[in-house]
Amino acid sequence: MLEGLKIVRTAQSRLPGFDVDKQAFGDSFSDHMFCMTYENGAWREPAITPYGPVPVEPAAIAIQYAQTVFEGLKVYRGDDGVFRLFRPDRNAARLAASCARLCIPAVPADVFIEAITALARVDAAWVPARPGYALYVRPIVTAADGYIGVRPSKRYRFFIVTTPVGTYFRAGSDGLRLKVEEALTRAPTQGGLGAAKAAANYAASLLAGDRAIKEGFDQVLWLDGTHHRFVEEAGLMNVFFVIGGRVVTPPLGDSILPGVTRESVIALLKDRAVAIEERAIGIDEVAAAAKRGTLDEMFACGTAAVVTPIAQLRYRDAEVSPAIKGFGKIARALYEELTGIQFGRLPDRRGWTRKIDMSVPAPAGA
Ligand SMILES: *Cc1c(COP(=O)(O)O)cnc(C)c1O
Repeated sequence: MLEGLKIVRTAQSRLPGFDVDKQAFGDSFSDHMFCMTYENGAWREPAITPYGPVPVEPAAIAIQYAQTVFEGLKVYRGDDGVFRLFRPDRNAARLAASCARLCIPAVPADVFIEAITALARVDAAWVPARPGYALYVRPIVTAADGYIGVRPSKRYRFFIVTTPVGTYFRAGSDGLRLKVEEALTRAPTQGGLGAAKAAANYAASLLAGDRAIKEGFDQVLWLDGTHHRFVEEAGLMNVFFVIGGRVVTPPLGDSILPGVTRESVIALLKDRAVAIEERAIGIDEVAAAAKRGTLDEMFACGTAAVVTPIAQLRYRDAEVSPAIKGFGKIARALYEELTGIQFGRLPDRRGWTRKIDMSVPAPAGA
């Protein structure tokens, strides 16, 4: 339980004059943030305050040694006016797993969800009321101790910041263009941090991503770190291939982030009795299918991207493209069903969404 939440509201909202369509993804934040501190063995002092800089020791273990993990989810304002979270229990469980991997004390699931809910209530006006738009929520758990030796921190901070976002898929685009990265590795095949949403993984990905963008691609498609052959994932997205009517996605392991969207996509495919295989898939197999004309679709999925078609892979000198440009049949159906559930247009048969009751009075101090 989130007890003793203190709320300090901003004197001047930045919302008037804010235009979500004029922002790059994630570069402006809503009025408030959440912060909680872990000290003497317990999470304490939950507070919502105006968004702004926080004091950090320069020798903080997070800064030096990347003992930081994070999450990503969205608050949706439904077509019916209802605000919803999508499977926040899965994000809470993944955060706990990421924390365990980095020796960080877990944030209890109820605290995690209540903190997001409380922040969403304070910044409800920041949740865009347009189809496909949402308030992206970024929880962060980070090591606070200033210390030069390498050991887990004793003190931590749990922050939540939010940013309004538009739809990921640009009108007029066929989909993502990804560069298959054959030299650099996001995460080692076994024993590394790849399955944790750990800050260090994203540091590891920067150089390849930067080169790919300079070469005109949207992102990198990562291969396994041992053979540089088996497809892993793309940036902040898991990937799926439709080959001869069967859907294939790489199996989870130490090097792949277990996406909530991936898990949901697999469940929806099983509902529709579409053949879905979680198995190792070589980049050579994808390229060969494209050559034969049996690569029906490729798509990526994640909270930000929902389901987004991949138009093209650059693999060595070959351009690997699916038979259809843009959304294929399966990607389209998944996109419609996922966003339908998230925005309250379709029945939520699995209990995936959690409504945020905005009529509840904000806690004392508001
Ligand atoms: C967050 C993330 C994903 C997607 O996870 P979702 O829970 O679906 O948003 C995929 N890959 C990586 C590396 C990620 O960090």
